[in-house]
Amino acid sequence: MSDKVIEIPSPARLRLDSRALVENWQNLDKKSGRAKAGAAVKANAYGLGAVEVVRHLQESGCTDFFVANWQEARELQAEIKSGSRLSVLNGVRQEDMAYAISSAAKPVINSLEQARRWQSTGLPCDVMVNSGMNRLGVNLEDLSQFDWSTLDIDIVLSHLASADEDCPQNADQLEQFTAALKHLPGKRTSLSNSAGIALGSAYHFDCTRPGLSLYGGQQRPELAGSIQQIVFPEAQILQVRMLKPGDKVGYNANYTADHDHPIAILAMGYADGYLCGFSNQGIFYHDEAKLPVLGRVSMDLIAVDISNAPHLKESDWVTAEYNLPLASSLSGISQYELITGLGNRYARYWV
Ligand SMILES: *Cc1c(COP(=O)(O)O)cnc(C)c1O
Repeated sequence: MSDKVIEIPSPARLRLDSRALVENWQNLDKKSGRAKAGAAVKANAYGLGAVEVVRHLQESGCTDFFVANWQEARELQAEIKSGSRLSVLNGVRQEDMAYAISSAAKPVINSLEQARRWQSTGLPCDVMVNSGMNRLGVNLEDLSQFDWSTLDIDIVLSHLASADEDCPQNADQLEQFTAALKHLPGKRTSLSNSAGIALGSAYHFDCTRPGLSLYGGQQRPELAGSIQQIVFPEAQILQVRMLKPGDKVGYNANYTADHDHPIAILAMGYADGYLCGFSNQGIFYHDEAKLPVLGRVSMDLIAVDISNAPHLKESDWVTAEYNLPLASSLSGISQYELITGLGNRYARYWV
């Protein structure tokens, strides 16, 4: 037996557009005004591949990167050049300390306990303030219980809960954050995620932290026109068949043909993150031809109507409609879940 590894080409893949990624970051950086845009690359850059995303953005001038935990920090460590910085948003547990003190990444200190834990290291950190989301962060009224001058604080940050909406909570959080800054001797300040960038210059501070919009998501109309799609899921056709009137498709027969037409069965399913919200709603394309999803999405398979491209055959490739705002309205699934759910069976390739 040969020990040579035989390659098995993946029947489903993600095409990723590096030029669009870079242009999205540049546009968000411009819209951040005097602030410089960083990049949220947690959860493997929202499922797209953090190593490649950091590589492309760093080449374009992005210098601040945000991950959720230390496992993610470790994966990126070798990519982060001197002059760039990596922050760990979920803070530093006791269990993280051994790795954290050996790492060039900074914890985001989220509580007084974490502040005390980090104090003796003398290493840089960021500090998160709870300005009203009540997720992570130190409460305003607790800030006086610690001598913050004993920490080497780079960024003082907070996070907006409802930046995608026009609601009073945005101004409330801005006020709370601004009040907290008086107590915290940080070098820099940061409040806005992608949607927050669109709220205007009062929300920009020194550094913004877009995630979703880097990857093609738009949660506010102000961002339309500046954000391009970067991820294009592609599936190979495994089988083509002809339906007759009365023929049913898929689990629980959620589609029944009322005329003769061809369908194709694709090598993709909800286990790949193409979720059941797309059942009878999703669209695939071959060139310009529109191929609607028929019946329920299965775990590993999807049926599409190929009446508009009847020449399609086994091994041909088709592309899912995955423009995030549009795909979200088709499926009822949030733009965030649509990208972070794209699974590990895809081959990811950058163009
Ligand atoms: C995820 C996250 C971001 C990025 O948010 P988007 O809405 O994806 O732009 C920014 N800051 C913090 C603290 C986050 O957790």
